[in-house]
Amino acid sequence: MTAETTNLEMLNGLSPEALLGWAVSEHGSRAALFTSFQATGCALIHMAHESGLALRVVTVDTLRLHPETYALMDKIEQRYGITIERFQPDPQALARMIAQHGEYLFFDSKEKQALCCKIRKVEPNTRALETVDVWVSGLRQDQSTFRAGTPKATFIKQEKRTLLKLCPLAYWSETDVQEYNTAHDVPANPLYEEGYPSIGCMVCSTPVRPGEDKRAGRWRWFNQLQDEDKKECGIHIHGSGI
Ligand code: SF4
Repeated sequence: MTAETTNLEMLNGLSPEALLGWAVSEHGSRAALFTSFQATGCALIHMAHESGLALRVVTVDTLRLHPETYALMDKIEQRYGITIERFQPDPQALARMIAQHGEYLFFDSKEKQALCCKIRKVEPNTRALETVDVWVSGLRQDQSTFRAGTPKATFIKQEKRTLLKLCPLAYWSETDVQEYNTAHDVPANPLYEEGYPSIGCMVCSTPVRPGEDKRAGRWRWFNQLQDEDKKECGIHIHGSGI
């Protein structure tokens, strides 16, 4: 695949199912869904299964996820007969970071939170991305102001190549996803019932109160900061090349 031979306009016009089908038929195992098992990722797993698509499912296991998330992963593997590919932090880099800064460094500063996310999330995610040419993601435009411009298909320029990123449900609302998942009895993380709209690592993701931004529960102790990207771990930042 090259940027020249891929028609973004055509891809942006496809239905979610057709976009997933195109990814698998054109790119096979060089396409994969990257998910942390939020409702949208689970909807995409179900959609791929219903369409009979052998779509790889990849996740970054930071080793700090909620027990409910690990249980959900097991349930999804059983329900859909798939093996989730789990990319974990490099053990040596992780041990070095903890020895130098402690297990809970993310409370200290934005810089140390970014370092923790880099070691536990971004580096394993980058390693996982090296196995694909097409990165399928569950990002939606309504998830945050930062994600409001998310297209269904776009190119991500990296140092040595161009990656195609597909967000088949970019235009779906939260209600659309809920209705789809309820109608199809898609497995869900029980933490949603406890007020978590966005589920990441333990400690760093907390429930939100009525009226708060959907991502307010992430790194709650940084909520007074003004940077718009303070709620992103670095994986989905536009133009970051990762
Ligand atoms: S969300 Fe928290 S624990 Fe998880 S990688 Fe980022 S800073 Fe570390």
